[in-house]
Amino acid sequence: MNKIEHIGIAVSNLKASASLYEKLLNTAVYKIEDVPSEGVKTAFLQSGPNKVELLEATGEDSPIAKFIAKKGEGIHHIAFEVDDINAEMARLKQEGFVLLSDEPKLGADNKLVCFVHPKSAGGVLVELCQDQKA
Ligand code: ZN
Repeated sequence: MNKIEHIGIAVSNLKASASLYEKLLNTAVYKIEDVPSEGVKTAFLQSGPNKVELLEATGEDSPIAKFIAKKGEGIHHIAFEVDDINAEMARLKQEGFVLLSDEPKLGADNKLVCFVHPKSAGGVLVELCQDQKA
């Protein structure tokens, strides 16, 4: 795996949290995007070389709605950039990690993504993401 691509933060109100993080990081949100495959609306901020992804649920059965109901707002996942998501998924499966999907899905920011179950990753939801080749 390569660098941390972004940190995902679950929020209940994207607009309110976007302005909070704009103040905190002293930078403007550069992209807002719906991700229907995950039932979320996302906002991205860049801080130096790092990205923060804010995630708001778009429906009650969204994983973000469930997360906030259980744990409240806060850090939701850590995403790592990979060059070949299929190869990484196969490697992790081989190592005994539980993946949340059998195939990569289309995620935010034009990436192919796959999540690793937190129960198999020390309580942390890990996202793999690979840049989509156009
Ligand atoms: Zn993410």
